[in-house]
Amino acid sequence: SLFRGLQFLTTVNDLSTLPQEGLEVAFAGRSNAGKSSAINTLANHTRLAFVSKTPGRTQHINYFDFGNERRLVDLPGYGYAEVPANVRAHWEKLLGHYLVNRDNLIGLVLIMDARRPLTERDRRMLDWFLPTGKPVHCLLTKSDKLSNQEKIKTLRAVEAEFKGDPRVTVQLFSSLKKQGVEQTEQVVGAWFAA
Ligand code: GDP
Repeated sequence: SLFRGLQFLTTVNDLSTLPQEGLEVAFAGRSNAGKSSAINTLANHTRLAFVSKTPGRTQHINYFDFGNERRLVDLPGYGYAEVPANVRAHWEKLLGHYLVNRDNLIGLVLIMDARRPLTERDRRMLDWFLPTGKPVHCLLTKSDKLSNQEKIKTLRAVEAEFKGDPRVTVQLFSSLKKQGVEQTEQVVGAWFAA
């Protein structure tokens, strides 16, 4: 399966020194949304993506390799409260530039805490990315924190926001319970196969 073969490739500090070849999917999300945990869970690896609470690390972009010139780009988590506003704004601008202009990018996995999806910053990412015409898959993480009724309600509410846009898909995910792995594999696998 796709994610089981995931290997750490490199860390880059500068969005202008990215590999020229190959295809990539990006994982983006507010810091603390559960992005690192999701990558580790998908890869069935305890510490592949480093779960870190150091604000300085938000500026690093980690590249992982699926093999066959296919990569996963772990984008810096946005919205870190501890980072000065001007630094945050600078990074968000770079993220926007990457999302809009990166030809190697074939799809975006947007990681959102299922308890508070589609924050203003999440919407800004979507506003940048959706006009490219590429697909977005929303992972509503930490779903174990919701009751069954809340899960259905949240899923429907987020889906309703994108009603009529076939490029946007939404699923529940829990790293704690290891739920949702196969669904993510199917979606991302289909992007690479297209
Ligand atoms: P990141 O900043 O987006 O990479 O978030 P992390 O993966 O570091 O997770 C942030 C916090 O949420 C950590 O304390 C994790 O243990 C917790 N967390 C992540 N995923 C889950 C999940 O599926 N369920 C629960 N209950 N907690 C989670």
